Amino acid sequence: MNRDDTNFATALLEWYRNHGRDLPWRKNPTPYAVLVSEFMLQQTRVDTVIPYFNRFMERFPSLTDLAKAEEGEVLRHWQGLGYYSRARNLKKTAHKCLESEQGCLPFDSKKLSEMPGIGPYMEKAIRAFAFDLPAVPIDGNLMRVYSRLEALAIYPDDPKEKKKAETYFMKRLDSPREFGQALMDLGELICLPNGTPKCETCPLRFQCHAHAKGEETLYPLKKTKQVRPVEHRAVLLLLDGKGNIAVRKRPSKGLLASMDEFPNVLGDQEELQKAYPGLSLRHLSKVTHIFSHIEWKMDVYLAVGELPDFTYMPMTELKEKAALPTAFAKLLSLYSPV
Ligand code: SF4
Repeated sequence: MNRDDTNFATALLEWYRNHGRDLPWRKNPTPYAVLVSEFMLQQTRVDTVIPYFNRFMERFPSLTDLAKAEEGEVLRHWQGLGYYSRARNLKKTAHKCLESEQGCLPFDSKKLSEMPGIGPYMEKAIRAFAFDLPAVPIDGNLMRVYSRLEALAIYPDDPKEKKKAETYFMKRLDSPREFGQALMDLGELICLPNGTPKCETCPLRFQCHAHAKGEETLYPLKKTKQVRPVEHRAVLLLLDGKGNIAVRKRPSKGLLASMDEFPNVLGDQEELQKAYPGLSLRHLSKVTHIFSHIEWKMDVYLAVGELPDFTYMPMTELKEKAALPTAFAKLLSLYSPV
């Protein structure tokens, strides 16, 4: 590390210790707390994750508690966070640690990357944030900071550029547990993605080529947004004679795998009627639910009847015990039992 690189780490870490975000998994960064937070933070914003993280840690305070819990209960604690395969993989990882690692999360790269749901990014995040080992996980924030520091017209998701960013930051690395998180916070709080970055308060401004040229907002390059495909679905709130609602488990693979669902089909009322003949359907409402990669436009119907593959649950039990994903859970407000 030369003198400039030392200054880089010193300035960055000093800024972080004074201005970094106060996040619950940073207070006591045990390997388990870091593991849970990293699974939750995939594709999800920090503000959204905080209350879920706190509730999850309260209910499953250790790797062993999680490994021994029922999958349905783990999914319920994930309800609303989306990407439920993360919850299943997190539980499988806890189980594998219990079976083959004496109940501890390994710090070895190879062992970590063999755990369910742990990819190259998370493996580095765990090594750095949980074990303080030399690693820098590269996310969108770090790519933005890197492209501006070096004034590079690059796309942030280009794997070759990510590799170069990693080499760049590894050369300047000090205190791995804090270094990567400091860069993430800098990207979130100072080197902003939209609008003008707050360069006057940036600890790295004297080393930033984009800032020197007044070209901060030119980097990185922006991709044109992809249009999300829309799926039309007809969903049925089906009651038995006592006001209980029909629900069943989804298949164990695919979107919302192993979560609970109401009767639903791809298509409109006609398709719903074909799938469940003989029911008298009353249209309740149109509801849209946006997943990251797809949008559901749902027509929701109410009917009374019996379907053999479904279990009927009272509203209170549905709310407390079923693992209903948000797309379906939000439909419950359309029906109020008398
Ligand atoms: S000086 Fe400005 S553009 Fe450069 S890293 Fe700091 S905030 Fe980003």
